[in-house]
Amino acid sequence: MLAVGDRENMRIKAYYYVGNAPTAVKNVIQQQLMPAVIAYYEAALKVSRATAPIQYSNADAQECAKVDAVDSLKNGINADLVLFITGANEPEKGYVAYASACDIDPTTNRPVVGMINFNYAYGFDKDSFLTYQTQIYTTLHELGHVLGFSSSLYPFFVDPTTNKKLGVANVVKTKTVNGYAGVSVLTLQPLTDRLKTYFNCQELDGAYIEQEGGPGSAGSHFERRIFLNEFMTASDIIDCRVSEFYLALLEGTGWYTPDYSMAEPMFWGKGKGCAFVNSKCVDTTTKQATITDSFCNDLGNIGCTFGAQGYGVCGTNDLTQKDTSMDTAFNYWGDFRKMADSFADNCPYYSFYSGAECRDSSNEPRNLPTGEYFGEESRCFTGTLGVQKALPTTSPMCIKKYCTKVSTNQYNVLLEIAGKNTTCTQEGAISVDGMFGTINCPNPNTFCVSSGLTYCARGCLGRGTCVENKCVCNKGYYGDDCSYRVVVPGEAEPESGPNKTAIGVGAGVGGGALLAIIGFIIAKIKAMQAGGAAGIAGKAAAGNSGAQPGQGADNAV
Ligand SMILES: [Zn+2]
Repeated sequence: MLAVGDRENMRIKAYYYVGNAPTAVKNVIQQQLMPAVIAYYEAALKVSRATAPIQYSNADAQECAKVDAVDSLKNGINADLVLFITGANEPEKGYVAYASACDIDPTTNRPVVGMINFNYAYGFDKDSFLTYQTQIYTTLHELGHVLGFSSSLYPFFVDPTTNKKLGVANVVKTKTVNGYAGVSVLTLQPLTDRLKTYFNCQELDGAYIEQEGGPGSAGSHFERRIFLNEFMTASDIIDCRVSEFYLALLEGTGWYTPDYSMAEPMFWGKGKGCAFVNSKCVDTTTKQATITDSFCNDLGNIGCTFGAQGYGVCGTNDLTQKDTSMDTAFNYWGDFRKMADSFADNCPYYSFYSGAECRDSSNEPRNLPTGEYFGEESRCFTGTLGVQKALPTTSPMCIKKYCTKVSTNQYNVLLEIAGKNTTCTQEGAISVDGMFGTINCPNPNTFCVSSGLTYCARGCLGRGTCVENKCVCNKGYYGDDCSYRVVVPGEAEPESGPNKTAIGVGAGVGGGALLAIIGFIIAKIKAMQAGGAAGIAGKAAAGNSGAQPGQGADNAV
């Protein structure tokens, strides 16, 4: 057997069963999306290679994904993970995709076969930058479950030096936090170590796991309150990030050696100490947010989202919503009022409005008027800035910005507003030549290394080099994260088989699994609420006016 140090880059082989998709959707899945996501994990993870080829019969494949095995798999394929990619057009159903691990290697206990099923009805517009990026994250997330983040796989996590199982008691425990008794904590050493440093909390005992959302979400996602925009939280969210924490979780499985340079930076709660992790987000006596640059107080009003990627509503735009069944630990205001994000322990933060993501150039500037701009270099700022007169109240607005380094750890933020440039040299309100009102400058030295930071998205997926925080893609790839592939006319189709023999999403989603882990479901189903603006579907439907918060409407399984 190979020692841990002899691990090699992971090899993932996908078989496609998506011939029932519209050609454009099929092409996105086969030619762009799956290759990009596979490229990420192949570059980010090293594994002990399987000791024998992965061999699967029709019966095995039927059990995993309700498909037949193609010949190369029947004969045995040299890969470290085999994936069945299936799909169905089910606009009436709320999921975008779901996934499951199906089989583990008998020696290493690592998952070696899995499946992902897509709903063709959502999110396959390659040419819409943000839709495609969202789909990349969704797919990374699904594969993220298959690779290890699943309560069903916790019993198989191993000590990498011996391949002996750690035992569930050494992987996850339950404790009471803020009066809520059901918090699951992943106690994997590599993960805990990084969390202690990140949050600046030495007493931290592990990663809090999502307890909300029923059996599909609870137990197999990071807790939204703690990990807000981490991609393995339970629903779609603006400014999603593949963090060091997920990679550390994978390291903690004992199966993988991650390349942490492939992680994307996180800022939510960073350095805020144990109080951030272990205190209620709203003080039940004062009924005010305890950490005001993370959580908000002006419920129902709009402001910039955390990370300034867009604007949205504080907590909920329907203050009459009550949930008398909520755990009393989350009843901060005493009247059971319910926030829009069902995964965040009922904590209020600025939830993103569909149509209000500053980086999305397809959004229309609002008629404030402020000289608002939507596009890659845009971020959310607050102010009263107006072209003809000052706004009556402070409002969030999307403004084109550039960070410039003036000396070590010293930055200025250049704002381009209606063709005029203004420079933020320090925090505070400033006026803009020829305009009325003011705009609030963030602290440039903080902003430029957090919200305003540009970074190489998803480590350039291993398809390029990161040069001055921008990906320089290898030949044949393009896009800010190199997630687009140049398709050569007439190129061979990847190995494919006929569609699923049965379609349907229900209790039995994901098929069964061998090796006594039959029936586990580690899928993510995103429920798109009718009339809401959840994620991808809502973005197309909602537009700017009357938009609903993007979070909370999704339901992950
Ligand atoms: Zn999920």
